[in-house]
Amino acid sequence: MSVFFNSIYKELEPYTPGEQPQDKKYVKLNTNESPFPPAPGVIKAVNESEAMDLRLYSDPELKPLKAQLAETFAMTTDNVFIGNGSDEVLNYAFMAFGEDGIAYPDITYSFYIVIANLNQVESDIKPLNSDFTVDVEAFLGEKNADGSHKGLGKSIVIANPNAPTGIAMSLEDISRICEANKDHVVIIDEAYVDFAEEGTSAVALVPKYENLLVVQTFSKSRSLAGARVGFAIGSAPIIQDLETLRNSNNPYNVNRISMKCAVEALKDNAYFEKNCNTIRENRAYAKAELEKLGFNVLPSQSNFLFAESNKIEGGALYKALKDRGVLVRHFTSPKISNFNRITVGSREEMDILIDTIKVILNEY
Ligand code: PMP
Repeated sequence: MSVFFNSIYKELEPYTPGEQPQDKKYVKLNTNESPFPPAPGVIKAVNESEAMDLRLYSDPELKPLKAQLAETFAMTTDNVFIGNGSDEVLNYAFMAFGEDGIAYPDITYSFYIVIANLNQVESDIKPLNSDFTVDVEAFLGEKNADGSHKGLGKSIVIANPNAPTGIAMSLEDISRICEANKDHVVIIDEAYVDFAEEGTSAVALVPKYENLLVVQTFSKSRSLAGARVGFAIGSAPIIQDLETLRNSNNPYNVNRISMKCAVEALKDNAYFEKNCNTIRENRAYAKAELEKLGFNVLPSQSNFLFAESNKIEGGALYKALKDRGVLVRHFTSPKISNFNRITVGSREEMDILIDTIKVILNEY
């Protein structure tokens, strides 16, 4: 650290992204990327996008992508915000709505605490239930005499499905949280919602709740992690607040090529649906195979499984897999240190994973 560093940032602990190792080729099941290439239209758009265009700034209003998102979600463009990955969207949401603090579960996406600290937003951390589900009551606040709830007096962020558990909560529970906390923003981070059962997405509730902001990404279900495009759907005033921050920071936040890719990815709904279905099938297959090997696998609605073995400790399994060329994600926080988060990849990748685990368990 230099002597010049702003003292308010001296204690910051930056986010640790999943490993992106360059030493050898791994079966890469550690950062929840898609095993499938982007939609054919995306590849064509990149090939066609002349490098000459890059001399021009990107469209700061991101009009074609806003229009395509509005059409896809049956909203107006006033309901759509676009960021450089959903991490950027989340950061703007914490900046915009974190004044009174932000509540979120103890086991969740570990980026929340980092952006809370970056933006001097106080975190109110609510433990998950012992079965790793979100404790909905903890987000409602005290009860009034008429049975309604007071709310928490601060904003809320919940990943649904949650990460790294993969467990989803119901729209009824999200409605209860929005209803109880009408004076603050409820952010539902739906990075993995496209792999969940139909009817899980809270976008359906946006017309009903002015305080609801739903965040999604092109990184997982649309195979565009490297393009860095995320978005949010919410009421027009909330979106306007995010636009104010974006235009005060980096109005050209999404580059020309990425925007083109995102538009093409949205247009190819059949390809998107097919890939999401394949991931659901591979998820069910891998879960059943892991259970045959004695694993406890949480009920996942996402493109990853969170699993613990009854024979080998989480950290040891992570290392043994890595030594054999299979990369999964291990978290060291005590409540979940026996688990590994395993991205659901192609059927071949799942077979390599299972076969490698069999070898490890035999040797162990
Ligand atoms: N939310 C959750 C829950 C995630 O796991 C991730 C991926 N690490 C993100 C948001 C961010 O994704 P991206 O910035 O690639 O859109």
